[in-house]
Amino acid sequence: MEQSVTGPPYDLDDLIPELAVHARRTTVLSPTSGCPGVGESSLGGPLLWPADEPWPSCAQRGHHVPPHDRNPAGTVPMVPVVQLFARDVPELPFPEGADVLQLLWCPLIHPDDQAYATLPRLHWRNEAAVLATGVLRDVPAPQQGEYDEEFVPTPCTVSPTAVIEYPNWDLPQGLQQALRPRIEELEARFGMEYTLFACALQNKVGGYPAWNQPPDWPLCARGHRMEHLLSVTAEEDLDMTMGDLGGIYIFVCRRCPELPYAHRYDC
Ligand SMILES: [Zn+2]
Ligand SMILES: [Zn+2]
Repeated sequence: MEQSVTGPPYDLDDLIPELAVHARRTTVLSPTSGCPGVGESSLGGPLLWPADEPWPSCAQRGHHVPPHDRNPAGTVPMVPVVQLFARDVPELPFPEGADVLQLLWCPLIHPDDQAYATLPRLHWRNEAAVLATGVLRDVPAPQQGEYDEEFVPTPCTVSPTAVIEYPNWDLPQGLQQALRPRIEELEARFGMEYTLFACALQNKVGGYPAWNQPPDWPLCARGHRMEHLLSVTAEEDLDMTMGDLGGIYIFVCRRCPELPYAHRYDC
């Protein structure tokens, strides 16, 4: 059986009852190439950006474009990555007064950054407030050849769908070992790896990061463990490679009022 596009295809609560308490809801975005508008949720689509706010750019020293590690002159405009309206993702909690979430990043490699990838930037906005101000129309874009195409998502509309998923690396270690024989039995029965039938590996909001490497949950400056907010991952049919089919995970601390965020690059 092929993995369903909307998430894990089996109810593991019945098959491995010990997993039930670790189940989490996540909203898979199910992107489809298209022409989303500024007023729509999208991946790589235009953002509802206030006309009186400068479009963000990145001037980090040493950011560069592979394979020849060229350094662009001057600053590089950031690119839209995700925009989500609260009405489309009812399971995503928004801070008070906000109903739009926007993720942008600088599409270059950042060597100083521990994650060695793009440099994400997150905004929570109020749709009505932006519409009242007016929407920025003249959005700058990076020059051809001055960015890593792997990090510029193809414009896609999204069809957010809530699914249940289970942890992989984030399973408590003792439990992971205890469940190993039964997981292997299911892998043999279903003819696929655990991550394919238990985890949502797609672009998604909430749930567990689909770590390829051991988990590396960021802490905020006050030492709180952050929550996984969203994953932007490669999807082959969309021509998004994200550095060899890896993903970029965005985390947020909701215990701190300023909602600090962090990211991890996983390849
Ligand atoms: Zn940069
Ligand atoms: Zn915090």
